[in-house]
Amino acid sequence: MSRPLKVIVIGAGLSGLAIAQGLKKNGIEYVVVDKESEPRDRNWGVTIAWSHPFLQELLPEELFNRLAECQPDEKLNTKGAGCESIIIRDGATGATIAEPSFPGIRRLNIQKTRSLWSKDVNVKFGKTVTDVELTSDGVTAHFQDGTSESGTVLVGADGGGSWVRRWLLGDEADATVLPYVFLNFPMRFTAEQALKMDKMMNPFVDVGVHPKGMYIGIFLLDKPDLDKPESWIFYFLVTWPKQEDTDTNDGENTTTDDVNMADEFRKRADGWADPFKSAVDWMPKDIKAKAVPLKIWGPKSGWDNRQGRVTLAGDAAHSMTFHRGQGANNAIRDSKMFVDAMVKVKSGEMTLGKAIAGYDRDVVPRGVQEVEISRAQTDAFHNHARFLESPVIKHGIRPVTEFSKTEEA
Ligand SMILES: Cc1cc2nc3c(=O)[nH]c(=O)nc-3n(C[C@H](O)[C@H](O)[C@H](O)COP(=O)(O)OP(=O)(O)OC[C@H]3O[C@@H](n4cnc5c(N)ncnc54)[C@H](O)[C@@H]3O)c2cc1C
Repeated sequence: MSRPLKVIVIGAGLSGLAIAQGLKKNGIEYVVVDKESEPRDRNWGVTIAWSHPFLQELLPEELFNRLAECQPDEKLNTKGAGCESIIIRDGATGATIAEPSFPGIRRLNIQKTRSLWSKDVNVKFGKTVTDVELTSDGVTAHFQDGTSESGTVLVGADGGGSWVRRWLLGDEADATVLPYVFLNFPMRFTAEQALKMDKMMNPFVDVGVHPKGMYIGIFLLDKPDLDKPESWIFYFLVTWPKQEDTDTNDGENTTTDDVNMADEFRKRADGWADPFKSAVDWMPKDIKAKAVPLKIWGPKSGWDNRQGRVTLAGDAAHSMTFHRGQGANNAIRDSKMFVDAMVKVKSGEMTLGKAIAGYDRDVVPRGVQEVEISRAQTDAFHNHARFLESPVIKHGIRPVTEFSKTEEA
């Protein structure tokens, strides 16, 4: 290899930024590009469980120690509060069905995290990748603004609708849209209601499965001012099976733009117990919501990494539903494995081809399995009668790599 090692990272989401931080920490040259020039308005939280130790290795100590700043509630000390589990309830009664725990779990607000992890790394915003060219000694990415970046290896960390995945795989990169209506929308309550909700709900994840075949989760997104509960932002995640005649405004096949899905949700939310009942009752009357397509994609048999010059990470490599909370955890594991592979190339321990082949051998089967398990979990959240047989009951929020080994043994 004549060109010195340089990584082009497409996408400044959690996976792209974690890769950038890890490469920087190991003195490896890189550039990150992202099509956005300003943050997306969509926001949510992720539960970081088993990937926490990887983050410690990828991030500089100073940034790792500041992770609490990315939490919805900066002051929440989970260990101190003795609270390291999520809660799954029977939506009709509010009774706890399961409380899967994981030592050291923490909740991160996506926008706050991206903003902190972008600090002091080389990110160029406003660059949409439109072409990838393989060269004799590496790869060049071209952008819509006429500029380009050349390097030795390119990693597509460009999310669930990945352009790089399409470049690698053509039509095989098409995601599958699952037959559920999916809503994700934020709201504020009055100060009194916000304080009550904060006490009533689990601080990480509080979700319910209802006999009517519906899922609701109520979460904290942010506490902009700890002393002003009226400023606190909560959000709902809601899914229910699509019915072709009534659920046309599903984000994919929109026939009427003026259907407010928050109203559709209200109509379906009778018969739920707390904390969901109060959250629905307290929803501001004028709140608006749109449905978002629930898409998944898993690599059937991987991709041709062009002699180690192009690969994928995060949702680009495996887009899964959120119902088992595994997407970001897997994205962070990808980041750690990718950085480790690059460290071996830099030290001369491995060729680029071998290092990326080894990386792909971890990402592909893990992605395939978790996409399928998470899909099964999504179905189970709409099948109350069989919920106790579902993956989260059997395996909690542990990584697929752990329990598939136990099952094989
Ligand atoms: C509602 C919800 C709840 C979730 N809860 C959890 C949870 O509890 N636990 C968990 O582990 N995971 C959870 N996830 C999943 C998690 O959020 C994702 O797996 C993770 O954020 C993926 O990060 P990423 O960096 O791979 O992709 P993204 O965050 O999508 O980043 C991709 C980036 O690439 C950029 N990009 C796209 N196309 C181009 C292009 N052509 N050129 C340049 N840039 C481009 C985009 O602008 C974007 O910034 C949840 C997801 C959702 C939607």
